Amino acid sequence: MRVRLLEATENPEELVCLGARNDYMSEWVGDRSFEDAMAGVEGDTRDEQISNFVAKLLKRGHYGPFEHPSATFAIEGVSRSCMAQLTRHRHASFDVQSMRYVSFDEVDPEDVADGEMVVTPPSATDPDWVGRNQDAGDVDEETVEKREEVFRRSVRQSVEDYQELLDLGMPPEDARFVLPIGTEVNIVVTLNPRSLMHIADMRAAADAQWEIRELTEQLLDIAADWCPHIFEYYESEMKHRKNRLAP
Ligand SMILES: Cc1cc2nc3c(=O)[nH]c(=O)nc-3n(C[C@H](O)[C@H](O)[C@H](O)COP(=O)(O)OP(=O)(O)OC[C@H]3O[C@@H](n4cnc5c(N)ncnc54)[C@H](O)[C@@H]3O)c2cc1C
Repeated sequence: MRVRLLEATENPEELVCLGARNDYMSEWVGDRSFEDAMAGVEGDTRDEQISNFVAKLLKRGHYGPFEHPSATFAIEGVSRSCMAQLTRHRHASFDVQSMRYVSFDEVDPEDVADGEMVVTPPSATDPDWVGRNQDAGDVDEETVEKREEVFRRSVRQSVEDYQELLDLGMPPEDARFVLPIGTEVNIVVTLNPRSLMHIADMRAAADAQWEIRELTEQLLDIAADWCPHIFEYYESEMKHRKNRLAP
């Protein structure tokens, strides 16, 4: 998978601070410079003030101001299974690549068997992989070789069948019913820092599936550049403390 930032609010942390300072000032924040609005907040520099203030808000559970900035990410090549998990989160906006208007008629089914178009889960090829809800512990190499063979055969066959249905004139929106849930999809998603922290609470957790965990970590890496103080605090004080943002 690949994740890239498409667009994001400039000065997102200043915006969070202004939103929250509005709550505690008798003056109108619209008339104040950032420095004025932050007067009285602990810190010798603007950066220190922002850092201290966002930490204080997060510590208190004052999460509303973290909804003002937004960032739009382009996600490439996650499975439709991962997409179903991500799109359960309601405080996000999505565009999802269509299987009605985009058909996979050019893909060679042999390439699908080699990993194109359908995401290959690590448990299909890695004998040391231990997944959640796995009945057996260690698996011998022979069993994993068999798994890989079955997996590759199955995805190749489903794409062959899909393309045959297209050749028989079936519309892509109906022929897609035979494609696997591992079929890759591209997504554009817009999130605010609060919704991203909430998604990370649930999806960066140890009990989340490997694919959405990887996606969430990539989103967090980008967010750490976009909102460094917020996500530094989140990483050090909040991450892996389940459901902090939605008790
Ligand atoms: C490990 C794991 C396994 C899962 N397994 C399943 C499964 O088997 N089947 C399944 O269906 N789902 C499953 N889920 C999805 C999960 O139940 C949630 O639906 C999903 O993660 C969305 O998160 P959220 O409920 O926090 O809602 P979000 O949409 O992210 O909303 C954020 C918060 O807003 C509040 N909120 C939003 N909408 C409402 C509302 N209508 N009413 C009240 N409060 C609201 C809640 O506090 C919520 O936590 C799983 C999730 C995880 C992490």
